[in-house]
Amino acid sequence: MIIQTVNELIGQTPMMEIKGYDLPENTRILAKLEQFNPGGSIKDRLGVKLIDTAFKEGIINKESTIIEPTAGNTGIGLGLAAMSYGLKLIFVVPEKFSIEKQELMRVLGAEIVHTPTEEGIKGAVAKAKALGEKIENSYLPLQFENPINPLTYYETLGPEIVNDLDGQYPDSFVAGAGSGGTFSGVAQYFKEQSESVRTVVVEPEGSILGGGEPGPHETEGIGVESFPPFMKKEWIDQVYTISDEEAFYYTKELARKNGLFIGSSSGAAFAAALKEAQTLPAGSTIVTVFPDGSERYLSKNIYK
Ligand code: PMP
Repeated sequence: MIIQTVNELIGQTPMMEIKGYDLPENTRILAKLEQFNPGGSIKDRLGVKLIDTAFKEGIINKESTIIEPTAGNTGIGLGLAAMSYGLKLIFVVPEKFSIEKQELMRVLGAEIVHTPTEEGIKGAVAKAKALGEKIENSYLPLQFENPINPLTYYETLGPEIVNDLDGQYPDSFVAGAGSGGTFSGVAQYFKEQSESVRTVVVEPEGSILGGGEPGPHETEGIGVESFPPFMKKEWIDQVYTISDEEAFYYTKELARKNGLFIGSSSGAAFAAALKEAQTLPAGSTIVTVFPDGSERYLSKNIYK
């Protein structure tokens, strides 16, 4: 296979059955391995969709500056998508997020603006909006409120999962929520296609979907501070709130037992999928998503 640009490698990621754990008979946990996108995460799908749509709608031109608050993966996805157009990039990143992701954004030409960790993603959003007001011909995709975010996953990940299952629907779909785009898009897709699919959201402690207060957590990429505007309550059949300890435990187990170098949000998703497996009848198929890889978190001692 000869490809012309790395963007051709976005999507159609492998789905792997995760074996070696205690499951009811014939129950399967299958994971979409999103680290195999060229920028290394599920957010490459979003980057290309945001940039292409903005060009098509005439919102941006080749002189535009893209400004976005991001934990990093959306920035990398936007950077890859913007490369061929030569767009200027400014990413607003809370300080706590991994240095590897920041380096990858920088090598794609992005300027990184930091906001204090305590101000959370809200602080990054406010800073990005303030920069947008000052900088001429700037565009803020604003993944945390832009309906293109869930639409991306509605159009790509949902149908891919059904295709991976040879046209069948899973009994349950389990995914983490950061912006909530992945979960919302795929949950909407399944709810429209089949009433029987359970759609289940995963969050760390310190995230509000399960009724808790916002607070700090180490699991990177998931956790919401306020209810995402594009998420509907009726899509959430269950919330699993996974402690950092459990997320990092499975992150390590999946490397050692399965050879999967995945990030901590994947560890959390797997912990939730295991809990879900215990509540469903034997023989169920649970599909989850592993959003990125561990190598962008080695500086944060992901395998400590
Ligand atoms: N895991 C990781 C590592 C991520 O970067 C993200 C995106 N912030 C997610 C999970 C959650 O995806 P979403 O924003 O679509 O909820």
